Amino acid sequence: MNHEVLRNNASKVKEWCDAAGIMYCAVVKGTNGMLSFAKDVAAAGAEMLASSRLEQLKRCRDAGIELPTLLIRVPMISELDDVLEYADYSLNSEIATLEALNEKALKKGVEHKVILMADLGDLREGWIDEDELINAAVHVEDSMDGLILAGIGTNLGCYGSIVADEQNMTQLAELAERIEESIGRELEIVSGGASSSLKPLMDGVMPSKINMLRIGAVVLDGCLDDVRIFYDVKELDELRDDAFILKAEVIEKKTKPTHPIGTLGVNAFGKSPEYIDRGNRERVILAIGGQDYGDIADLVPTVEGMEVIGASGDHTIVDIEDCKKPLAIGDIIEFKLKYSAIMRLTMSENVKLCEID
Ligand SMILES: *Cc1c(COP(=O)(O)O)cnc(C)c1O
Repeated sequence: MNHEVLRNNASKVKEWCDAAGIMYCAVVKGTNGMLSFAKDVAAAGAEMLASSRLEQLKRCRDAGIELPTLLIRVPMISELDDVLEYADYSLNSEIATLEALNEKALKKGVEHKVILMADLGDLREGWIDEDELINAAVHVEDSMDGLILAGIGTNLGCYGSIVADEQNMTQLAELAERIEESIGRELEIVSGGASSSLKPLMDGVMPSKINMLRIGAVVLDGCLDDVRIFYDVKELDELRDDAFILKAEVIEKKTKPTHPIGTLGVNAFGKSPEYIDRGNRERVILAIGGQDYGDIADLVPTVEGMEVIGASGDHTIVDIEDCKKPLAIGDIIEFKLKYSAIMRLTMSENVKLCEID
């Protein structure tokens, strides 16, 4: 884990946001809310810290990071006391939860800021009916004295794979304007989404009404994972993809057939993958597995000619037939990591984390 690279990436995001008059809200859940990462984004100028998990916001706050905090998973009724304690803001999508939060805030004598979520088609959280969202906003504004209606937001590219574009960003901006008309004042925050919303920003089509983005993934993996969304965005080349490097040790090296021998059933994860017979090939086994990083598709070999062909919980098999570099038992192989692998590896007890400042 290279903190200089992380600070570099976060500074780039901050520059892009600044140039568009947008607040950079840094999402830290992708490193399990690691304090050293929160410090990196704070040093790079992030204006708010966000996580889906209150434990992580608590950790940052207890360590003295003074940025305002945002809970980005719609709160559980069972965690509302902690929401008031550790989050200055929260994303919300249910009146029942808002009412319970309001009551708790009134009882405690505190005020909590809420951002109401609009579902613009990705079909995860948020009101999909615009009038219902506007009514909810007016309801919070007029009759919930423990809550402050800070603004509205949306989330894209999570369940429905919907790309952030001029159309849905404009829809969000117009919704904000309608709410402002209804309540007779400006909203503090109009939150236009996550890393995937950098695309409309770079394309120059982000409405000026959008004034916050919640950015996690691209700072961590330098966009290795998000090429699908960012096809044409050349600015993203300025991000580095080597903040996290996984090192794993070779424990076996043999030439074996590529098609299993015998009756095919299921693999270690209960799945029945297809095996292509490519004849005999040289391959190595590494002492790390899916339990540590999740999916082999999220490992990117750094040596030409290596291909990760499979894994079980604790073993990873890499085809090295086309690899020019000689390998021996005990050698270390390095991989770049996509977001999901970073997320899991930073939580794994079995993986030793080395931090370079
Ligand atoms: C995870 C998350 C983000 C950050 O998404 P990235 O793709 O990591 O930038 C933003 N908002 C919400 C609601 C999230 O759950």
